[in-house]
Amino acid sequence: MGLEAARARLIDCLSQEISDKRVLSTMARVPRELFVPPDSYYSAYEDMPLSIGFGQTISQPFIVALMTQALELKGDERVLELGTGSGYQAAILAELAKWVVSVERVPQLAESARQVLEKLGYANIEIHVAEKTLGWPAGAPYDAIIVTAGAPRIPNALLEQLSFGGRLVIPVGSRWEQDLLRVTRRKKRNFIESLGGCRFVPLIGEGVWEG
Ligand code: SAH
Repeated sequence: MGLEAARARLIDCLSQEISDKRVLSTMARVPRELFVPPDSYYSAYEDMPLSIGFGQTISQPFIVALMTQALELKGDERVLELGTGSGYQAAILAELAKWVVSVERVPQLAESARQVLEKLGYANIEIHVAEKTLGWPAGAPYDAIIVTAGAPRIPNALLEQLSFGGRLVIPVGSRWEQDLLRVTRRKKRNFIESLGGCRFVPLIGEGVWEG
């Protein structure tokens, strides 16, 4: 099967569980094959995670769709992503929001993501190499935060970077399996929903996992 046919089949499959049409049409447009290593080119539209080197992975398309939908982006938001990885999720966010700040721990991944995103012409994404504090406080507050690595708990440092009414989507659990949570920041008590089970590489840093 050619890439175009594989892509159409994937979007058709995602549309059975994902209702947000903006998310689906964006995923039908962003070329995932450019974000995976050359030897995975023809697997780019399989619904599975793929290795991107440095022990890291580009998330499964269904999970990308689910997490993006949960952020409820309308187009005018500032979004923070933790875990740039390949840059694919950042591209999806950039299509659906106004400005994207994405941070990555591995400098080589940050650099290659920067290159492919620049080649594709994205001008509303800034990529930073992660510092000691989680996230990117200098750009706060964000209307939405997406964490594409698993954490042992909901980090306070991230809630503090979220605006009131903003959504944080984050996998929380053990190193091996997590529950995908959506936390809506409220003045009194935050609102937490579970979106289902998932499996992410660990989020490494202060107050989360040790590298
Ligand atoms: N969103 C990516 C997938 C990322 S995999 C994509 O679309 O391809 C998770 C990434 O999180 C890895 O690249 C890992 O290096 C990074 N990571 C782990 N801990 C981090 C931290 N504290 N801050 C930023 N990135 C982190």
